Amino acid sequence: MERAVVLRSLSCTPLVCTRLFPRSSRRLSRLSSLPKRHPLTPNQRSLIRRHLRLFSPSSRPLHHLPRHFSSFSPRAIATSPVPSSPEFSAGADDDVAQKLGFEKVSEQFIEECKSRAVLYKHKKTGAEVVSVSNDDENKVFGIVFRTPPKDSTGIPHILEHSVLCGSRKYPLKEPFVELLKGSLHTFLNAFTYPDRTCYPVASTNTKDFYNLVDVYLDAVFFPKCIEDFQTFQQEGWHYELDNPSEDITYKGVVFNEMKGVYSQPDNIMGRISQQALFPNNTYGVDSGGDPQVIPKLTFEEFKEFHRKYYHPSNARIWFYGDDDPTERLRILSEYLDMFDASMAPSESKIRPQKLFSEPVRIVEKYPAAEGGDLEKKHMVCLNWLLDDKPLDLETELALGFLDHLMLGTPASPLRKILLESGLGDAIVGGGVEDELLQPQFSIGLKGVSKDDILKVEELVMNTLKSLAEEGFDSDAVEASMNTIEFSLRENNTGSFPRGLALMLRSIGKWVYDMDPFEPLKYQKPLMDLKARIAKEGSKAVFGPLIEKFILNNSHRVTVEMRPDPEKASRDEEVEREALNKVKASMTEEDLAELARATHELRMKQETPDPPEALKTVPSLSLNDIPKKPIFVPTEIWDINGVKILQHDLFTNDVLYTEVVFNMGSLKQELLPLVPLFCQSLLEMGTKDMDFVQLNQLIGRKTGGISVYPFTSSVRGKEDPCTHMIVRGKAMSGRTEDLFNLVNCILQDVQFTDQKRFKQFVSQSKARMENRIRGSGHGIAAARMDAKLNVAGWISEQMGGVSYLEFLQILEKKVDKDWDEISQSLEEIRRSLVSRNGCLINLTADGKNLTNSEKFVSKFLDMLPNSSPVESVTWNARLPSINEAIVVPTQVNYVGKAANVYETGYELKGSAYVISKYIGNTWLWDRVRVSGGAYGGFCDFDTHSGVFSFLSYRDPNLLKTLDVYDATGNFLRELEMDDDTLTKAIIGTIGDVDSYQLPDAKGYSSLLRYLLGITEEERRRRREEILSTSLKDFKEFAGAVEAVKDKGVVVAVASPEDVDAANKERPNFLEVKKVL
Ligand SMILES: [Zn+2]
Repeated sequence: MERAVVLRSLSCTPLVCTRLFPRSSRRLSRLSSLPKRHPLTPNQRSLIRRHLRLFSPSSRPLHHLPRHFSSFSPRAIATSPVPSSPEFSAGADDDVAQKLGFEKVSEQFIEECKSRAVLYKHKKTGAEVVSVSNDDENKVFGIVFRTPPKDSTGIPHILEHSVLCGSRKYPLKEPFVELLKGSLHTFLNAFTYPDRTCYPVASTNTKDFYNLVDVYLDAVFFPKCIEDFQTFQQEGWHYELDNPSEDITYKGVVFNEMKGVYSQPDNIMGRISQQALFPNNTYGVDSGGDPQVIPKLTFEEFKEFHRKYYHPSNARIWFYGDDDPTERLRILSEYLDMFDASMAPSESKIRPQKLFSEPVRIVEKYPAAEGGDLEKKHMVCLNWLLDDKPLDLETELALGFLDHLMLGTPASPLRKILLESGLGDAIVGGGVEDELLQPQFSIGLKGVSKDDILKVEELVMNTLKSLAEEGFDSDAVEASMNTIEFSLRENNTGSFPRGLALMLRSIGKWVYDMDPFEPLKYQKPLMDLKARIAKEGSKAVFGPLIEKFILNNSHRVTVEMRPDPEKASRDEEVEREALNKVKASMTEEDLAELARATHELRMKQETPDPPEALKTVPSLSLNDIPKKPIFVPTEIWDINGVKILQHDLFTNDVLYTEVVFNMGSLKQELLPLVPLFCQSLLEMGTKDMDFVQLNQLIGRKTGGISVYPFTSSVRGKEDPCTHMIVRGKAMSGRTEDLFNLVNCILQDVQFTDQKRFKQFVSQSKARMENRIRGSGHGIAAARMDAKLNVAGWISEQMGGVSYLEFLQILEKKVDKDWDEISQSLEEIRRSLVSRNGCLINLTADGKNLTNSEKFVSKFLDMLPNSSPVESVTWNARLPSINEAIVVPTQVNYVGKAANVYETGYELKGSAYVISKYIGNTWLWDRVRVSGGAYGGFCDFDTHSGVFSFLSYRDPNLLKTLDVYDATGNFLRELEMDDDTLTKAIIGTIGDVDSYQLPDAKGYSSLLRYLLGITEEERRRRREEILSTSLKDFKEFAGAVEAVKDKGVVVAVASPEDVDAANKERPNFLEVKKVL
């Protein structure tokens, strides 16, 4: 059904819950005072590391991801999504606000987001509130506290997890999880920054929205965790001992989450860089927590931190959307009036870091695989702290623009020169970062030889120098300007609420006591900058910036990281010794007491909340739920036999298109080349244009073009659905340019540049290696899929362990057999690019759809019309054996899966409700809460029938498999009252109806078409969801049992844990080494 389709197509696996973020190697470039990557797309190269409460299971492999979709990722800015009516109520009436205890500080209409915005101060406590009113139905609330840590015990992070574990009005184990299960939220999470903690929620349903707000307010101000030592233990850390004769271990959700973070080289680089740039203020420690320091944290310190900082005087509160602004203040006053003003605002102030007089150099080690090739595994990153104070917005905007010019696209000079130098495989460092008090700049390479480290440093400095001296090509400036203006106008935040993207931009200044509205008003400074560039030239504008902030700035930290195959085991050893010491210091009574406490904690974790407590969490009723699926207008017709799908939706004058080609006639051995083929189309150049010119042309004329393979099983069919999708967007006046460019990349690109192709291979290899360490659950899921069905096998060839193995061989082959590879790329083109099997999807408003017809028709005329597609039969799967992919890590990713259709299960809508319920209750409680993993979840691919269990940053291996195997029993013995069932149904509908911007609606509709999902079926599934009963849960036990009995296991795990597992169950896992 639609949810599944959307998840598969738009999601990505890396790190944390996020859908739709471009996988171009430089994922999101940014324009600094414009919205940054949203916090749910943690940039692995970013210095700023945030920690999220919820890891959400985008467990699917990556092959469906739009690659290289506009190098400048569309983010939140502010043009309104619908034709705007400026007649919004101008905030709450001033008298009413006064009566409720608020004083209006300022008010303005912000053109960029067509919103009325009011800043209030709560008179009694000084709490600040921004209330934004407009016609966006996707309402957003957020409360933010300044929470600067003094050490690396991870207090802010553990507190962020813990306050959502029950509160005064909602005295149950985890109200947060109840909201996950039973609300229509379009966003629900919490994040910890280096200096602040944010609690945002969003919903399109007003009643639901206020429910969410109330639960969050009660959680932050009156959490149970400050009296409940066991919550601190569960979310933070504790000693675990089942039996006095065994070894003591550390457990804790944050503890294990951070072990995962500390196992990843890119993360280590980011942390070390940040800490070294800011040795003298709060950014010099880790707000997330260092696993070696977390166990030093005491409950007293934890409570004190909450008392001090989680106070209205230290709070900034944001409301956004089309709800009643008076109601917002009414809800807030109920909470805020209970407090008096505190000293928090001065205690939480962030002190700036003074600038160094000399550059600093740091050499660190990171855990590498044993026996791997260590020669080209060094990393080096140059970092600058740009100023000793925050920058003004004009300068920040100019620096953001400069960042895009230098690094934003594959054609950007700094990025291009670094990658073409052959000194390293991939870029590290996030460019300009401006989300902390003072801005930074960082850039470097990974996959570098030891001897080349200095060469990389010299190359960075020399390139910056020549850019300062020579300026930028005017085509490049125009391309960057168009890309940025396009994304501002499009204001496409993907599935991320627009109001939240705005909040995060605003808070980036507001949190430092600056004006919250200023960052939202980009239009004038951008126009001024454009005029300045036109008048003075790019050299005059950007040269002085590069000189002042980078070249002549002595606050530079160079971080070099060396691979150390023994580091992982040494860290283990240190932990083991510490724990042995603890044990040795304990008396027999102590040990008995610890075992008892361990047992008690687990009992508490595994005991369900009493129904009275569950009832306290407000929820909607089934009557609040729309009975019909979300309607997407779709018209299907054809031009010369080619199917055209059209969606008449308001898109603010942007035209979105997907050109789809059938991959069914491609030879099996060519499949792993497809991702590189797609990259070559965009980044290799034509006879008349080198790739830089081609990229600039795309930047100047369109909002971005991406090309990627899409593969899925189709329910009830043997053959999978496999396509290559070319996705593009442009202002409607540029429709002809857009189709001409699509035609150009498909037909004119030449596969002749051996050197560039070799770079693609190295970059892809580096990316895959990173993914294996950071997103082991995605790797495990892909691997299991490849053992269970053909679509999974194809995907794994293009994005799993098999793909990495292919790249390792290919990297050598490029030097020897380039002609053969080049011919294979041509063969892929011949096989894919044809009018036969082509399909075109268009999303725009009616007038622009009509206007586009002649260009579409012309485009189709230019396509070759090769003979009808002859499907080849791929009948490959990986052997169905249990496997362990061994990596140097301190935490594991454990998966088990089977095809439940093969055991006779027939899909019903209830399956969505049940699998969500299993994830939010059974797996959450056992794998996360008592198991100590950061995430545990299941995924039901309703197209293939594969049901998979997965865990994320998991300290266990076999124990987790035991939990999976007991799921059938859990369902059979399940007792459930009507309220609980209703919540489960509502939560599922919330997923199915997930909020989509117009382009996403058009895209989802296309995928449904490709997968043969009819409107009739959508209606039926929805009815089935709404009428799910307890009996369905019990019946589903049989399907889940198939996983227990016939399932295949794949774990991405540490060598120690795999050894231990194979000792306990001989020959259970076949060991595979890939790094
Ligand atoms: Zn966390």
